[in-house]
Amino acid sequence: MQKLGVLGGTFDPIHAGHIALAREALRRGDLDGVILLPMARPAHREADASAPDRLAMCRLAIEDEKGLLLSQAGMAPGVKYTWDTIAPLRREFPKAEFVFLIGADKLVSLPYWYQAEQLFSQCGFLCFARSGVAAEEALDKVRRAGARIEMLPEFRTPYSASMIRLQSAQYQDAPGLNPKVLAYMALHSLYQPDFIPKLKTMMNPHRFQHTLGVRKEAVRLAGIHGLPIQKAALAGLLHDCAKGMSMKDMARLAREEHLTEDESTLTSGALLHAPVGAFLAKKEFGIRDEDVLNAIRSHTVGRAGMSRLEMCVFVADATEENREDYKGLAQLRRLSDVSLPAAVYRSFQLTQEYLRETNRAFDPSSLKTMAYVKGLMTPEEKRLLALEEEEGGI
Ligand code: FE
Ligand code: FE
Repeated sequence: MQKLGVLGGTFDPIHAGHIALAREALRRGDLDGVILLPMARPAHREADASAPDRLAMCRLAIEDEKGLLLSQAGMAPGVKYTWDTIAPLRREFPKAEFVFLIGADKLVSLPYWYQAEQLFSQCGFLCFARSGVAAEEALDKVRRAGARIEMLPEFRTPYSASMIRLQSAQYQDAPGLNPKVLAYMALHSLYQPDFIPKLKTMMNPHRFQHTLGVRKEAVRLAGIHGLPIQKAALAGLLHDCAKGMSMKDMARLAREEHLTEDESTLTSGALLHAPVGAFLAKKEFGIRDEDVLNAIRSHTVGRAGMSRLEMCVFVADATEENREDYKGLAQLRRLSDVSLPAAVYRSFQLTQEYLRETNRAFDPSSLKTMAYVKGLMTPEEKRLLALEEEEGGI
């Protein structure tokens, strides 16, 4: 018979501490596997993230973890107590013997758990010691009540879900998160204000689709290039927040708030929505992070001195999945996986070519951006760019 540990919890969100504890139990507890059991309705605290989101994050977190399993037994409506999970667990794992993982702080209350007697006849327990918790007396009592229980040494982790939630609320990438979980959190704005309903009223459905595409691509690129994921997601989400405004309103706002002195920007909606967007992001959405605001402000013509995050959003805007194919798109996507400065540079070259063909002027501030990003490129990146230039817009 398979002996499986069961780690119930809120997993709001799942982090490296949970995974390490499960592995520790696996190693020391003579188990064949450990099942993560996220509870839809945690007993002691309302969860911040929805049950489906917490389940999805658990699934991502164990994808590459040998011996870790996931159960939906805690997700069914009406499931509240550990006892409620036994029957669904049995259905999911018919051949298993279950050993619930608990901390020593739970020992005192264990004999009073819902349906304790039946529960003790159906499963065992593995209990992690906890410093400051004298376990002997409680352990005696639990065993007298009929529980099969083994003790394990204390397990410590530097990570905490509440700390992660706090950091995420400030758009910081908290340590101790699986990269896939972090990306999921960023793409779903977990533990952050939900800007989606408001954004939807500010733009048409087509623009909104594009916005989600930019967020997704910005998160992907940030992951590849080691940039802050949460900030990339936020800037991607808000980059076009002013795009739905009329030219008249944008120009008025820009003049009133002194958003730009540049006459060619003040008369072009294609350019003006960037500085106005940065203004709205601050004013309407309460964003204070300068890097994020700059990424919104510079997403059309860039900026000499632009950061990697700005480049990431700039490129994602041009290459997101909903973009209709244009000359050089495939090439730009290829470049962006390897070098952000080269991709930004190439993107301007393509715009330049396009404007030349249609007899229109190239914005002079773009030239400054081009010179700036070229200066950042390593010899290797320059070689790569030259290769792509030779290829033309393929
Ligand atoms: Fe835009
Ligand atoms: Fe855009």
